[in-house]
Amino acid sequence: MNIGNLTRILSIIVAAAAYICVSTADADTLLIENVTLIDGTGRPPVAGAWVLVDNDRIRLISRDSINPPTKTRRIDGTGKYLIPGLMDLHIHLQGGVKVTPEGLVAADAGKSRGIRALHSYLYAGVTSIYDAGNVPDYILSLREDERSGKLMSPRIFAAGGIVTYPGSHGSSSFSTLVDSWPEAIPALDAHIKRGPDILKLTFEERGWGARPMIPKLSVDLMQRIIQYYNDRGIRTTVHTSSEYRARQAIFAGIDTLTHPVIQGPVTDDFARLMGAKKIPMVTTLTIGENYSRLAEHPEYLDEPLYRATLTAAEIKTLKTDKRKEYQERKWTWWMKIMTTIAQDNVRKIHEAGGILVAGTDQTTGPALHRELELLADAGIPPSDIIRIATLNGAIFLGKERDLGSIEEGKIADLVLLAADPTTDINNAKQIVQVIKGGQIVDRSKLDLPVNE
Ligand SMILES: [Zn+2]
Repeated sequence: MNIGNLTRILSIIVAAAAYICVSTADADTLLIENVTLIDGTGRPPVAGAWVLVDNDRIRLISRDSINPPTKTRRIDGTGKYLIPGLMDLHIHLQGGVKVTPEGLVAADAGKSRGIRALHSYLYAGVTSIYDAGNVPDYILSLREDERSGKLMSPRIFAAGGIVTYPGSHGSSSFSTLVDSWPEAIPALDAHIKRGPDILKLTFEERGWGARPMIPKLSVDLMQRIIQYYNDRGIRTTVHTSSEYRARQAIFAGIDTLTHPVIQGPVTDDFARLMGAKKIPMVTTLTIGENYSRLAEHPEYLDEPLYRATLTAAEIKTLKTDKRKEYQERKWTWWMKIMTTIAQDNVRKIHEAGGILVAGTDQTTGPALHRELELLADAGIPPSDIIRIATLNGAIFLGKERDLGSIEEGKIADLVLLAADPTTDINNAKQIVQVIKGGQIVDRSKLDLPVNE
């Protein structure tokens, strides 16, 4: 018997089993029929795939039609493309904080603003986010609402407050500030008690671009903190901006990096190191590029995703006052130049076998699609970008057993597209359906300008 026949017979057997097991009164099944499957692993697309979702998990994937339980909801995938839910793994949710060139500052806009931003992610096909530093009460209470099912939102993973040295990057009244060991332990315990999904450190003395120097953690203190969290089962990530500091963090035991190297070109050795160590690196190209983009190309705000998620008043302010502010900032023009260098750096690391992870350092769904465009512009093939925005993100989170790809047994976070994103990454914007945990997200009910 050849493998094809064996797979066929097995899938018929499993389909029959699925039928028997889920045909109860509370069956909650969803079948996506005859779709082109782009599973997030980087494998080539599979045409004519059938995907059966049972409650929140993917139960069965078959190249033959599936006979589902009677009450199954069906989605006709003919001519469409199914990808895993996208992930933005570096955000700072608005309403709690604002990202400025000087760092994070508290914003008191409140939860309704944050909820609208969360809805903009779902609208844009983003089903998981990692908040890399915020006012802890703000982000952790939204996380609780998401996890209890009270809040329609992408999955929220959060650092809570940033841990850093007093006066360093990310230092604020809502950060955990540490300057010596073991004196730091009670403050770290207080942070750990709140349940950070991933510890966020900063290791940044500035003195580059248009910013004066500031203090930072010592390597020794950073290493002790990383070990303390890892010993409690918590993964770690760090803000660095140079190859030198990234190397120090890696050899101090850091699990992931929240930014690419932006201060200058990386060495070939560093690219090879990233390929060897497989330290996930979040790409955050759009945070540096968004200033010059607004200054030079404000017309991007007329694209459908921005029109749908920003109010006319917000777009007007961006095109006038904000644009003028960005045009006059030195930072804008520095970052425009450095973005091309960061793009070369991420491409080199990708080609050396490193694990890139899509993230924006921003706070709306459309920004993630800009990140994907900038990765394509860097010369990374679209089929690889899909993995960077899905399975690699799950690896960053340490959740790759449950999330990030369309494989049997995994959580059903899915996006149905009208066009093929592996031929043009812009097709990832052609969203037909968003499914989170096996439930279809009603995009017409999201709290967004497009629905007003
Ligand atoms: Zn950040």
